[in-house]
Amino acid sequence: MITSAAFAGKRYAVLGLARSGAATVEALLASGAQVTAWDEREEAREAFVGRCELADPLQIDLTGFAGVVVSPGVPLNTHPIAPYAAKFDVPVIGDIELFAQARADLPPHKVVGITGTNGKSTTTALVHHILQTAGVPSVMGGNIGEPILGQDPLPEGGVYVLELSSYQIDLTFSLDCDVAVLLNITPDHLDRYDGDFEKYAASKERLIEMQSYAQLVIFGEHVFLHNRPLYDRWMRSENVCVWCMAHLFPHNSLKSDDWPGLQGPHNRENAFAAGLVGEAFNIDDELTAQGLRTFSGLPHRMERIAEIADVTFINDSKATNADSTAPAIAAFPPAPDPRVRWIVGGMAKEDDLGSLAGLMDHVAGAYTIGRDGEMFAQAIQPAAPAQYCETLGQAFAKAHGDARAGDVVLFSPAAASFDQFRDFEDRGQQFRDLVHALGEAA
Ligand code: ADP
Repeated sequence: MITSAAFAGKRYAVLGLARSGAATVEALLASGAQVTAWDEREEAREAFVGRCELADPLQIDLTGFAGVVVSPGVPLNTHPIAPYAAKFDVPVIGDIELFAQARADLPPHKVVGITGTNGKSTTTALVHHILQTAGVPSVMGGNIGEPILGQDPLPEGGVYVLELSSYQIDLTFSLDCDVAVLLNITPDHLDRYDGDFEKYAASKERLIEMQSYAQLVIFGEHVFLHNRPLYDRWMRSENVCVWCMAHLFPHNSLKSDDWPGLQGPHNRENAFAAGLVGEAFNIDDELTAQGLRTFSGLPHRMERIAEIADVTFINDSKATNADSTAPAIAAFPPAPDPRVRWIVGGMAKEDDLGSLAGLMDHVAGAYTIGRDGEMFAQAIQPAAPAQYCETLGQAFAKAHGDARAGDVVLFSPAAASFDQFRDFEDRGQQFRDLVHALGEAA
């Protein structure tokens, strides 16, 4: 685990004892800090009985505390902890901030921070895979993988690859990334930003603001095309060095015909981003290319489950908004011979098709589910055949029933899952189970 002398003798409250909260308490205790831990679930508190004080930080005097560490799941814009801690002048922070403060005690190392609305996990896993392929010690943390404070410190020369959601960035104040990657920013999670896209974008931008002089920023092409004021601001800045994929794409020697784990144009962007991080660390082009070739992809992201009777089944359950489904659909040919049997729906983020609207000629048939299934069916219908099927099981049966040899049954819901499933993983697993049951019956 990662510990630091910087925490010794200080007092912290930790709110939320799920994975990252529990790892935080362990790391703080092992560093010699005094910890008050809390979770409203008794089972979560049990592991710490007798090891630290257990009390709700909202009920105690926080005078003299060095920080209240909260989980990124706590909505800072509405939760009472933010104003309460402010009364005592105590910062509300996350485990990534503690990691940032612990860095001085770690062997010399580098940090890559990866953010964006879509593509973070894929790019993070890919950077880690390329580093591993090149023999560089690396570990993943943040939104992906194990909590970072629970990891063993890397030896000298190691690279910490952090996937950072805007929620995590909101709880981080001193993370100076050697390389910050901002892939794209499109409207999402706006409930946490009072409906204000600019606030959400500003949250992501703070990853760059925290960097010190001459550190590297890598922008996705999307930022150049759609977030121009932000892009221009940093291009003009004399503080950081900026690489933009929009300008480096054409000169890049990486070829995308040989990456089975990285299908679709969006993954091409993720691959270029990861390739540029490799370049920033002087990784040999051949090793980067080898990493891209051998990357197996992540579950629930354009995951090829099976081919049954010449029909391919793809699980893209992680696509929770229109912008993440758009490249999945664009990966397949348009009219005159569209092949996609698209299962879509759940809790929509917008009340229309958004960036999907121009892609309906790629859709041979749409099968809609969930709370906003009827809205999706109505929006798709003028441009492609669509039917409301209510549940995933019904949609699946209709989609594969209609599929001809060479078609693709694509489960890319473009919506959140919580109306019918526990989360996107549960949703993707249910799709996998349906495919496997079909395979066994075939
Ligand atoms: P995140 O961790 O940011 O949610 P993931 O890598 O898990 O991103 O991918 C989430 C979804 O977004 C997947 O459905 C994937 O197909 C889509 N996606 C991945 N990369 C991109 C990208 N660069 N631009 C747009 N969509 C993407």
